[in-house]
Amino acid sequence: MPDGGFDLRGLIPNSLLEWEDHVAAVAVAGGCNFRCPFCHSWRYVVGLADLAPLDPEGLFRLLERQRGWIDGVVFTGGEPTLQPGLAGLIRRARGLGARIKLHSNGSRPGVARELLRQGLLDCLALDYKAPPDRRFFAAAGLGPEPPDPLGAVRETFALAATARVEREYHTTLVPGLIDEAALAEMGEALEPGGLWILQQFENGDCLDPGMASVVRYGSERLEGLAAAARAAHRRVLLRKGKSA
Ligand code: SF4
Repeated sequence: MPDGGFDLRGLIPNSLLEWEDHVAAVAVAGGCNFRCPFCHSWRYVVGLADLAPLDPEGLFRLLERQRGWIDGVVFTGGEPTLQPGLAGLIRRARGLGARIKLHSNGSRPGVARELLRQGLLDCLALDYKAPPDRRFFAAAGLGPEPPDPLGAVRETFALAATARVEREYHTTLVPGLIDEAALAEMGEALEPGGLWILQQFENGDCLDPGMASVVRYGSERLEGLAAAARAAHRRVLLRKGKSA
């Protein structure tokens, strides 16, 4: 694994989609400890054998080249907090003037705590997959056996609630998992300062091929779901996706 332990498997030079109001490079870590059935990043989770590792120096060359017109780097995956070299990469990227967003499933509160303590993050984005019951485990594709993933995620959410950085929470609107009642419950539990991003579920090319038979919500229902979320949380962004 190159560069002191960061398994980099994807690098997007610049994107407008990964960070609101930012042009950002995207660094994609290989490997994840969750198995969300609706995951579209499954190539970085269970398909690593078909993806060549990239040299993290490529990220820094990219930042040098794009200095002045790129705002930052989004570290995503897979699950970037599993990578022991994450803090080192972030430090170097910051040294090149990049703002940093970390997008995590929240399963490594110790890593998030340390990155926040060292002031290495500008934005912490967490998956908010489902209410904290059997629906969470179904969404994460995991069982409740130790190490308790839900306890770890709760701890990361508590950290985020008091963090002095931008916060985002991401929920995919998967029929059968997320409905108006679930969103009301999730919104009530969510700290007030973060941006809650609701994302249309796309049933093609998911980690679990069985998701192809799940019919996504239509446009009108999406608006109803967003209204249920807005009744419980004041900052909600609905991303409808492809021609919903
Ligand atoms: S959606 Fe789930 S399985 Fe996919 S990268 Fe995120 S946490 Fe891992």
